[in-house]
Amino acid sequence: MSQTEAPQRPAPLIDPATVARLLRLVDATSGETHEVLSPLDAAVLVAVPQSSEADLDAAFAAARAAQPAWAALPAAERCRSLLAFHDLLLSHQGALADLIVAETGKARRDAVEEVFHAAMTARYYGERAPGLLRPQRRRGVFPVLTRVDVLHPPTGVVGVISPWNYPLTMAFSDGVAALAAGNTVVAKPDAQTMLTAAFGLELLRRAGVPRDAWRIVAGPGARVGVGVVERADHVCFTGSTATGRGIAARAGERLIGASLELGGKNPMLVLADADLDAAAAGAVRGCFANAGQLCVSFERLYVARPVFDAFVERFVAATRALDLSVGLGWGVDVGTLVSADQLAKVSGQVEDARDRGARVLAGGRARPDLAPYAYEPTILTGVTPDMACHRAETFGPVVALYPFDTEEEAVAAANDDVHGLNASVWSRDARRARAVAARLNTGSVNVNESFGAAFGSLDAPMGGTGESGLGRRQGPEGLYRFTQPQTVATQRLLGFVAPGDVPRDGFAAALTSGLRALKAVRW
Ligand code: NAD
Repeated sequence: MSQTEAPQRPAPLIDPATVARLLRLVDATSGETHEVLSPLDAAVLVAVPQSSEADLDAAFAAARAAQPAWAALPAAERCRSLLAFHDLLLSHQGALADLIVAETGKARRDAVEEVFHAAMTARYYGERAPGLLRPQRRRGVFPVLTRVDVLHPPTGVVGVISPWNYPLTMAFSDGVAALAAGNTVVAKPDAQTMLTAAFGLELLRRAGVPRDAWRIVAGPGARVGVGVVERADHVCFTGSTATGRGIAARAGERLIGASLELGGKNPMLVLADADLDAAAAGAVRGCFANAGQLCVSFERLYVARPVFDAFVERFVAATRALDLSVGLGWGVDVGTLVSADQLAKVSGQVEDARDRGARVLAGGRARPDLAPYAYEPTILTGVTPDMACHRAETFGPVVALYPFDTEEEAVAAANDDVHGLNASVWSRDARRARAVAARLNTGSVNVNESFGAAFGSLDAPMGGTGESGLGRRQGPEGLYRFTQPQTVATQRLLGFVAPGDVPRDGFAAALTSGLRALKAVRW
């Protein structure tokens, strides 16, 4: 259904006063609006005002003017706001989840999970950033004579461009690290999920972050997203590989930093000694959480041949038992896809696979009787390289099963991919699974878990290799990307030129002895 044909909903999903209050937070005075449909019923949820070029200029000017004062605060003071943000996110999780479900159609439990992730990220940087940002002493060229301090000044104004699939955590988890480091932020959330992003911003301001330290703009990626990339000092992008490639090219021309969290075609490996009940439950979560619209979810499942049938039986039964439905309540296991475009992409890939001979073991159908864009969790076998879903990211609830005979073969198949975001290995022997994990070309690997173990461990970096992106979020790495490390080296007494009347060859000989001595004492 096109946007102009969208029905008007009799009773609003979100109270109009809340909508009006949140939209006032967006820097958008063009007079144009963009109608957003809720995937729950394809009726108009909100008409979002759109930002003009002047709004972009104003948002960046405000953020740029505010940045020095924000950076001049002690890091601990900045971080107090992040800790308050953590508390506000948790205490408003119900209202946040309502907005997230209304905008994305996901299951409420998936919505609440992202509230938790955003809160945990705010707490991690709130607690850890002051220590990480403290000047660090490093070894100088000469012991005693050279003192080296490394400082971590902020980059400036960070542009955060985020997608619709995790509209709270993708919009805030990177930005809170940027704020902690002393940057200010101009955010461009996806057009579909502006209300969630605006509610997050309202809570951030209530937590003490100054108004101009985080501005928010709205509009199509091709215009407003590009405008953010043109004006930012660092761009932090989460979204598709195709868009990320274009952003990287422009960032390259402008010589600004870019962190890019992109797509994936993630593999899960079930080794012959795996606990099959646990692996099947892990596969259900890893393939169908957020209806598969999750960057770290699995679309390729490699299973050791001796346990293939036993695993498939468990996985198919658990998948068929899932409750595919929509609504704001807790009863939903798997929600709907977000849009007609997503539905067309997912059903197109499944039809293509079916037409070319793949077998559908579970699902494989759109369910317009449940919601306009609902699609069943789907398991395929017999997927071959000529099928679109063999290599292309589906970004939906569709997984292909492949048997393997040797670990060597499983590792090679898993690594035969241009992406490299997340993977999972299942075995009763965790040491063996970790050895397999170390051979996978992905930014994260979960052993006996799907994605939560790595994604929820905020002290460790997350990100992708190959076409899954550049740079890392989370952990110290996720903070330092928003800084410009500065080395301050103080030399005293002896310098780099021969003192007084010491001949140059004699000085060179003394330095040679010095270098040998430094190697001997491992300096
Ligand atoms: P998308 O690239 O179409 O859009 C993402 C964001 O970029 C939106 O805000 C959009 O408005 C903006 N945008 C679009 N064109 C732009 C341009 N030319 N310049 C600047 N900004 C532009 O992605 P999507 O379809 O909304 O999201 C799904 C994709 O995101 C999937 O491929 C998924 O794997 C990926 N993703 C990755 C991660 C990760 O952490 N690696 C997390 C979530 C989603």
